[in-house]
Amino acid sequence: TAFNEKVSAAKALNAFLVETPEHALAAADAADAARAAGKTLGPLAGVPIGMKDLFCTKDVATTASSHILEGFVPPYESTVSQNLWNAGAGMLGKLNMDQFAMGSSNETSFFGNVISPWRRNDGGHAPLAPGGSSGGSSSAVAARLCPGATGTDTGGSIRQPAAFTGISGIKPTYGRCSRWGTIAFASSLDQAGPMARDVTDCAIMLGAMAGFDPKDATSLDLDVPAWDRELSSDLKGKRVGIPKEYRVDGMPQEIEALWQQGVDWLRDAGAEIVEVSLPHTKYALPAYYIIAPAEASSNLARYDGVRYGLRDLPDGANLQDMYAATRADGFGDEVKRRIMIGTYVLSAGFYDAYYTQAQKVRALIARDFDRAWEACDLLLAPTAPSAAFALGEKSADPIAMYLNDVFTVPSSLAGLPAMSVPGGLDAQGLPLGLQIIGRALDEQGVLDAGLAIE
Ligand code: GLN
Repeated sequence: TAFNEKVSAAKALNAFLVETPEHALAAADAADAARAAGKTLGPLAGVPIGMKDLFCTKDVATTASSHILEGFVPPYESTVSQNLWNAGAGMLGKLNMDQFAMGSSNETSFFGNVISPWRRNDGGHAPLAPGGSSGGSSSAVAARLCPGATGTDTGGSIRQPAAFTGISGIKPTYGRCSRWGTIAFASSLDQAGPMARDVTDCAIMLGAMAGFDPKDATSLDLDVPAWDRELSSDLKGKRVGIPKEYRVDGMPQEIEALWQQGVDWLRDAGAEIVEVSLPHTKYALPAYYIIAPAEASSNLARYDGVRYGLRDLPDGANLQDMYAATRADGFGDEVKRRIMIGTYVLSAGFYDAYYTQAQKVRALIARDFDRAWEACDLLLAPTAPSAAFALGEKSADPIAMYLNDVFTVPSSLAGLPAMSVPGGLDAQGLPLGLQIIGRALDEQGVLDAGLAIE
């Protein structure tokens, strides 16, 4: 039947690792009961959402798309997912992702890559990457399998997959969403955020996800503004900066044109456009690919075959052998690459040459933004340097993959809120994303500009 065909087409995307319809149905029933009893409903009452598999969900398998966490069933709920359930949402299932959130194409998942529901106009090309690391989230929302999904963004993992699949996604200011119960990649960068069809849905979901949590030492002890109720596409009095260093060599003409289109839209919405300079931009990517692996190598030390998931115990093995066998078998190539880079840059002989230098660069990048805020209130840039690439196109070349993050990592290093919204289609009919970056805590400004573009 037509229904069965739709189900198999949906399953072919490989977006869901685990399906939990009973969880979503329970939320829908609870919403119906509350409505019937005349009770006030939560902002997400009965809404079925997808949950990136980086969030621990009580009694539901959580693997971060890794082999080493296979069989791990958390006995607790992450704060972000609990906040969503408290707002009335229900979970449709756990979403595929790049292993431990390391990647930009969803190809590092132990459970196979996700496929984007988009196809090039000429149809003859290989299936497209949904972006990463939140590729299950982007694919599921773009294919309309769920109205919204959670993502996490360490260096672009909400924004780039949103751009690749024609949806919206916002990474809030570092500290807005609790990291408690979210599997750690790079703790000083990791932030949760929503991915949804439009800016309003993102604002509603973010309002539910965010909030102070004493269980996360970096959580911001601030009230959550009513972003959705304050949304306005009127940008009168706002100055939008165009960072000239983001005009990188070899930028495709289509991306240039998209950016100019975004400028026109924001000007039409009342904003004043100014050119600004972020002079240390070119050092952001190398600094990120030192700092993120350094923190990852430390965070991933906990997967030792004793406490969670996989344990490989070869015949006659001692404890050391068990560690080595479990980690060799349990981590994918990209994760091992990050652990090795991270361990190297943190080692006694190289710490000052790499890690300390990268931290200094990080401070300079944050200062660039601080200076830019003297001349503007928001920044506009492309989200990624290209439209979605084909699966397999970059997977053999880590550097080519890392270069895809060139426009998303600077704001991550500075902890700033940043959003991707759909900006239009390229000549092949593929979506392109525009990125808005705001001052710390100015999610409202970012969402408003997103609304003006949408
Ligand atoms: N693509 C980047 C990386 O691989 C960002 C990942 C993320 O934001 N989780 O590190």
